[in-house]
Amino acid sequence: MGTGEISRVAERLSRDQKVFVITGAGISAESGVPTFRGAGGYWRNFRAEDLASPEGFARDPLMVWEWYTERRRNLLEVDPNLGHHAIAALERRVGAFLLATQNVDGLHQRAGSERMETVHGDIWATRCLECGDRHRELGLIHESLPPRCERCGGMLRPDVVWFGEYLPPEPLGRIDEFLRTSPGVDVTLCIGTTAMFGYIQAWALGTQAGGAMLVEINPDVTPLSAHADVCLRGPSGELLPRLMEMAFPSE
Ligand code: NAD
Ligand code: ZN
Repeated sequence: MGTGEISRVAERLSRDQKVFVITGAGISAESGVPTFRGAGGYWRNFRAEDLASPEGFARDPLMVWEWYTERRRNLLEVDPNLGHHAIAALERRVGAFLLATQNVDGLHQRAGSERMETVHGDIWATRCLECGDRHRELGLIHESLPPRCERCGGMLRPDVVWFGEYLPPEPLGRIDEFLRTSPGVDVTLCIGTTAMFGYIQAWALGTQAGGAMLVEINPDVTPLSAHADVCLRGPSGELLPRLMEMAFPSE
């Protein structure tokens, strides 16, 4: 990748732009959070797909809760990286902005992102299977598992979207509204995601069809790469701070 490519993106970002950012597990890789498909994506020889599913939970809620609890503990040991911080800074520099993250780890929020939607839920949130009550408490480690609802005593589940489940309608509605409202998106950054899901591709390609520059930031090729206007190949924790420095040189 030449500097030409990255400066083209920086130049577009530096005008007063409407920017849409999509992130996946790759943005958190440099914080030490394992991606799903990469090394470390297995737990006690189970694939994530077998644990993060309604069937997995119905089979063995305790085991699924142990897995989520271990992930929560691991997340308490890590911090947002320079990529998360660059995205939070970008939000404060451009006219209109929205981040849609597939991550459940809470690292974007900890880096200060505010205009964001968690399309796959949040590992720090729970939902009661009986009364539907929802809670979010960053840093909470339940003492006894599976945890129970304080209101009705029902079993709680992680408020995350599992394989085979629908996405929560509220964040989707807000994303659609952002994408539909004019002016159109000028730059879409697709960062650290294999973009395996149809809706991710639809958002990326839809904004591009409406005139946005579609930029992929990922060390590897994905199904989006062939469509992207610019592919920045490398770790987001290095490329995003460079991009920000070029777009908004520090005074
Ligand atoms: P994925 O694991 O399928 O893909 C990760 C992508 O990140 C890959 O394309 C990889 O090349 C790229 N990548 C790896 N290191 C990178 C780096 N340093 N910089 C930039 N990119 C890098 O993840 P996905 O596409 O997000 O889909 C998997 C599903 O599992 C999603 O729902 C995801 O949110 C969820 N998940 C979430 C977390 C989390 O919250 N941190 C972790 C694992 C999986
Ligand atoms: Zn309840």
